[in-house]
Amino acid sequence: MERDLVCGMIAKAEFNYEFNGETFYFCSDLCRNEFRNSPVKYLKPTRSSEFTDGIEERKIAYFSMEIGIDSQIPTYSGGLGILAGDTIKSCADLKVPLIAVTFLYRKGYFEQKLDTEGNQQEIPVQWNPIDFLRPLTNKISIKVENREIFIGAWQYDVIGVNGYSIPVIFLDTNLEENSEYDRGLNDYLYGGNQWYRMLQEIVLGIGGVRMLNSLGYSGIKKYHMNEGHAAFLTLELLNKIRKNVDLKLDYEAVRELCVFTTHTPVPAGHDQFSYDFVNNALREFIPADVLKMLAGEEKLNMTFLALNLSRYVNGVAKKHGEVSRSMFPGYNIESITNGVHSSTWVCSSFQKLYDKYIPDWKNDPYSLRYAMSIPKDEIWNAHLEAKKKLIEYVNIKTNIDLGFDILTIGFARRAAAYKRADLVFSDINRLLKIADNAGKLQFIFSGKAHPQDGMGKDLIKKVYAISKILEDKVKVVYLENYDIELAKLLVSGVDLWLNTPSKPQEASGTSGMKAAHNGVPSLSVLDGWWIEGCIEDITGWSIGTSQNNESNNQQDADSLYDKLEFAVIPTFYQGKEYWVNIMRHAIAINASFFNTHRMVQQYVLSAYN
Ligand SMILES: *Cc1c(COP(=O)(O)O)cnc(C)c1O
Repeated sequence: MERDLVCGMIAKAEFNYEFNGETFYFCSDLCRNEFRNSPVKYLKPTRSSEFTDGIEERKIAYFSMEIGIDSQIPTYSGGLGILAGDTIKSCADLKVPLIAVTFLYRKGYFEQKLDTEGNQQEIPVQWNPIDFLRPLTNKISIKVENREIFIGAWQYDVIGVNGYSIPVIFLDTNLEENSEYDRGLNDYLYGGNQWYRMLQEIVLGIGGVRMLNSLGYSGIKKYHMNEGHAAFLTLELLNKIRKNVDLKLDYEAVRELCVFTTHTPVPAGHDQFSYDFVNNALREFIPADVLKMLAGEEKLNMTFLALNLSRYVNGVAKKHGEVSRSMFPGYNIESITNGVHSSTWVCSSFQKLYDKYIPDWKNDPYSLRYAMSIPKDEIWNAHLEAKKKLIEYVNIKTNIDLGFDILTIGFARRAAAYKRADLVFSDINRLLKIADNAGKLQFIFSGKAHPQDGMGKDLIKKVYAISKILEDKVKVVYLENYDIELAKLLVSGVDLWLNTPSKPQEASGTSGMKAAHNGVPSLSVLDGWWIEGCIEDITGWSIGTSQNNESNNQQDADSLYDKLEFAVIPTFYQGKEYWVNIMRHAIAINASFFNTHRMVQQYVLSAYN
């Protein structure tokens, strides 16, 4: 397997390039173009097997239903998966002895096609695991209903800046021994009905622990559940680790082993399965009364199961810790604010700049605070390079001709109702007036709606409809297929990153942190990470106040328009010096803190120790 030497992602074989007698591979045309223009001398590609080290030394098993490491491995849907991928990358850089366990999705999340009205069509992703992952020969099974589900595994190695590698184990039920139905469990991420979903989670949690045993990972001291999806692992541990004397269940011993990170600030977002389902599937695996005690009377609530059997529990931003504590009174819930993997999310022009002025930034992203000493014109030029790449991409992909000098606002994330992609269009006349009087602006949107989320799909259509009303006065583009690669292009190439979630539903949010790594300021509702990251007029701008706990659309829209009209647009067009000063502060104050190196170090000290 070859890695793209520009972005570090897995390369496509058809994109290769001869340089100094060696062949280099690139993940896409985009990077290849970048390489042609770049004076940087690249290292030789590395092969993962050279770095895989001792199995017994792994201390932490990190379980996640989705992991997004690379655009070409489509086993993620959004924030949760990207966070998992970024966490693993930082663990590799920091040599944290972790192993990750996740699920292989043969049809990916989905490929998004949008017609001229913005109707979303979901197409299974065509990809071949063997192109990216190494098949393992180990096989384990779980007794479900009256049969065994057999589970195999694949491995991918994430290699850190110093060569240390983190294995990622992808569980796979697509084996000849299994029925058609069980083989299909590997088809979709967040697809299928409750039964399908529960079996996937049983395979992840119970199968994951068994697979680690089978692979010889005997030194695991902590099992980290990234969201409740993996909480069935606690049941496997309960069965395995019994008291010496009478073989009774040893809750305390299991609690010592488990760490749980919750990501969901609304009760409806937590997975629940009926006990009929659970008992049908797992039979007498764990006595029914014990399950009810641990996971709730009515239904098996994966969050309660994880809460009751974890010694350390955390939310993903300070505010989200508070919200979680009030949602689950009686539990001790800490918070560790999310981050992003710095070198993954910094675009090539800023990479060059940081290499020049802050040479150790990849190892030590805290040192991005020294961005304050990078000359302003060089920051601005690096930004223009990224912006040019984005605008060219958009103008090739769509027939909307975006202007290069116009304030460009980015909004990309899962198309879910609470994210309110349409908030900025609440008052079209006001928006047009602002564009006329204060200065021109244009928008780039992107994001997939969950296949079963009708409201999310309607939002995409609404943005399409509004773009037609606005015509050329305020240009609006909606880009298909938001993924890691497109996200990187967007967060670095726009001038301003917009986020308008309805409070308190943004547990953290991470795309604004990616933008900050590229000097792009945010204009955002004070929820999730932005409560911690926003210094008004210094790192960006807030929408609304931090006072009220719940959002009001009208107030937020008014505030959004005011900020655009009186702060953002005048600064952009009339105060470039000041604008670049804000860009520098976004890097120095926010990128230096909201990164997964800092986050992982907090997990190591507070959760894993
Ligand atoms: C970062 C990222 C997300 C999550 O962004 P949020 O701001 O946390 O909603 C979702 N999808 C992709 C492709 C991303 O890169």
